[in-house]
Amino acid sequence: MTALAKLIKARIARSGPISIADYMADCLMHPAHGYYATRDPLGQTGDFITAPEISQMFGELIGLALAQSWLDQGKPARITLAELGPGRGTLMADALRATRGVPGFHTALRVHFVETSPVLRAAQAQAVPDAQWHDRVDTLPDAPLFLIANEFLDALPIRQFVRDGMGWRERMVGLDGDALTIGLSAPAPLALLEDRLADTQDGDLVEHCPALPGIVQDIGQRISARGGAALFIDYGDWQSLGDTLQALAGHTYADPLAAPGQADLTAHVDFAAIAAAATPASFTRLTPQGVFLERLGITPRAQALARTLTDEPLENHITAHRRLTHPAEMGDLFKVIGIYPATATPPPGLEP
Ligand code: SAH
Repeated sequence: MTALAKLIKARIARSGPISIADYMADCLMHPAHGYYATRDPLGQTGDFITAPEISQMFGELIGLALAQSWLDQGKPARITLAELGPGRGTLMADALRATRGVPGFHTALRVHFVETSPVLRAAQAQAVPDAQWHDRVDTLPDAPLFLIANEFLDALPIRQFVRDGMGWRERMVGLDGDALTIGLSAPAPLALLEDRLADTQDGDLVEHCPALPGIVQDIGQRISARGGAALFIDYGDWQSLGDTLQALAGHTYADPLAAPGQADLTAHVDFAAIAAAATPASFTRLTPQGVFLERLGITPRAQALARTLTDEPLENHITAHRRLTHPAEMGDLFKVIGIYPATATPPPGLEP
C-alpha cells in the first residue's frame, strides 16, 4: 500500500467518505506524496505524452497565434505571456523561438508560469530561465494577458453526481473493510446543477470542476479590461455527461482507486463551463485541435521541417504530424476554445 493510500484511508476512517474532488486533490497535489508534486510524469519514459512533447510544431504555432493576436490588438507595450501548468516548459520554449522574428514582441512580453509542482518548476526553469512563477492565476501582473493552457484544466479535481429524481447523489470515496471504494451520498437538490436537470435523466452522471469557474473568470476579466487572448486546449466536449475520471500509469489505463499518488488522474473538460465563465470577454466556437492546427499552417510547417530530415527522424516527424492532427488520433478528441476581448477579433484559427 502506498503511503498516500494509508493517509487517505486514515482520513476516511476518521471523518467519513470524501468527494472525488478531494480524493483527486490528494492524489495529484499532496505536498509529500502527490503525483505531480513528486515527479516529472511526461514523455516516453513517463506516464503520458502531451502535444508539445510530440512535436515542436505545436508550441511554434501557438506562439505565432498569440503573437498575431498581439499584432491585431495594436502591439500593447507591456504584456504578460502566461502558461498554466507548463509541464516541462517545452511549449513555451518552442513558442519563444518561433516568435523571435516578430518585431517588438519579445521586448514587450514577460513570461509568467502558473505551476504548483516543484519538480516541474525546476524543469521549466531549464527550458525558460527568465520566467516568473505563480501558484495561482490571481497573482499574475495587471497587464494585457496572452495565455495558453494545454492539458491543464483536465488535471483539476472534479466532483461527480448521479441524477436521482429532481436531486443528485454525489459519488464519494469511502472504505469497504480496508479497501477504497466508491459509494453514493443521499440525494439532495443542488443549485449548482440546476441547468443540468433539462438535459439529463435518472441515473445519468454529470461532472463539475469546482476550481474552473474562478480561474476562467479571473482570466476573462483581465482580458476584457486590459486586452489579450487565452487558448484552452484539452480533451473533453460541450457539457460533460458520463464518468470521464481516468487514471494513467506507464501509458496504460489503471483503476483510479488502485494506487493513490502513483497514477495521473484526469477528467474530460467541460468547455461549456469555460464559455460560461469567460464573460465579460467573448469566447470562440469550440474547434477540434486538428482543424485548429491546419488553419494555423501545420502542414506547410511540417513540409518545411521534413526537408531537413531523413530516415528515422523523418518517419517520427511524419508520425508526430499525424498524431497531432488526424481525427483518429488527437485531432478530434482534443478541442480548442479561445477567449478574447469583445472589441477585438478572435485569435487566429478560431471563429466567433
Ligand atoms: N501543459 C503541459 C503539461 C500538462 S500536465 C504539456 O502540455 O505538456 C499538467 C500540468 O499542470 C503540470 O505541469 C502540473 O504540475 C500542472 N498542474 C496541475 N494542477 C495544477 C494546479 N492546481 N495549479 C497549478 N498547476 C497545476
